[in-house]
Amino acid sequence: MPGMARISVPDADALLDKSFPVLDHGFVRLVDYLGGDARIVQAARVSYGEGTKTVREDRALIDYLLRNRHTSPFEQVILTFHVKMPVFVARQWIRHRTARLNEISGRYSVMRDEFYLPRPVEVRTQSTRNRQGGERTVEPATAERVIGALRADQHSTYQHYQALLEDGIARELARINLPLSLYTEMYWQIDLNNLFHFLSLRLDWHAQYEIRAYGDVMATMVRAVCPLAFQAFEEHELNARTLSGSELEVLRRAIDPSRLADALEGSGLRKTRRRELLEKLGLRAEANAEANAEAGAGGGAETGAETGEDAPGVAEG
Ligand SMILES: Cc1cc2nc3c(=O)[nH]c(=O)nc-3n(C[C@H](O)[C@H](O)[C@H](O)COP(=O)(O)OP(=O)(O)OC[C@H]3O[C@@H](n4cnc5c(N)ncnc54)[C@H](O)[C@@H]3O)c2cc1C
Repeated sequence: MPGMARISVPDADALLDKSFPVLDHGFVRLVDYLGGDARIVQAARVSYGEGTKTVREDRALIDYLLRNRHTSPFEQVILTFHVKMPVFVARQWIRHRTARLNEISGRYSVMRDEFYLPRPVEVRTQSTRNRQGGERTVEPATAERVIGALRADQHSTYQHYQALLEDGIARELARINLPLSLYTEMYWQIDLNNLFHFLSLRLDWHAQYEIRAYGDVMATMVRAVCPLAFQAFEEHELNARTLSGSELEVLRRAIDPSRLADALEGSGLRKTRRRELLEKLGLRAEANAEANAEAGAGGGAETGAETGEDAPGVAEG
């Protein structure tokens, strides 16, 4: 069967082993990847022994899988990153338990004199609406004062660290006062399904700026490894929003079905997607009418093959 061997993606290969700077001393490097869009569709179609088809069909299948939360084929793609980040970023990062990682050891190595200092534009006040967040930027003079204080503390703490090492104190003890702004490094490996979960949380505006900066760089790498999957992720996760039951109810009451019909007509969404939206909004009669129109269209590009509805190997065992 052609095309089933190790998958190589030229755009991803071009990124390998290149460090992309993040913050003042950090970076992200794509160490390796396993699989790509082709592996996702191979895995999804495994029960029929089929591999990739046309790009159009593969895109439709990947979109269908993500849209319907058939996530296991995405777990067949693995990415390994080498990341250098401040400790406070790493603490948030390692909450994502489905990754495998190996971090530099402060017991074994002398930690380098590298600390994160925000740029003046990133010095922000405490948010009044979100207890976990920053809000406004501050006057340049205030920003300089804040950065100066951070720098002075980092400098003195590192001087004490060095002095303890020179006194022969164990590295594992000498390091214990080093601040959260110290840079650490790790190899971090994760499958694509869980990486999408990481990115959807860490690219969100609620996430801290400093971890979002890493997410932005990683997103460009993921896009290179599997552009079709990334496109589906943007459509169905990153740019999508979940509504609560009460929120949905408000919307349902406010919707004018005829205006909605016009908007759908001009939306460019395929018939299946239009029906799905009507179903989500609880407009059953309209959804049934859309389903009948789909059936009337007689399959073809807008139904089974295009959407992946009838695609082999996507059903749960
Ligand atoms: C804006 C923001 C603020 C946050 N604030 C805080 C905070 O104040 N304090 C704090 O402690 N944390 C905080 N967190 C961390 C947050 O609570 C999660 O721990 C973190 O985002 C990882 O999410 P996860 O568990 O879904 O991801 P992962 O650990 O990557 O898990 C991915 C998926 O696998 C499932 N999974 C993983 N491990 C298991 C397991 N052992 N058993 C069953 N299912 C598993 C998860 O349920 C999830 O669906 C915050 C996160 C964000 C994004």
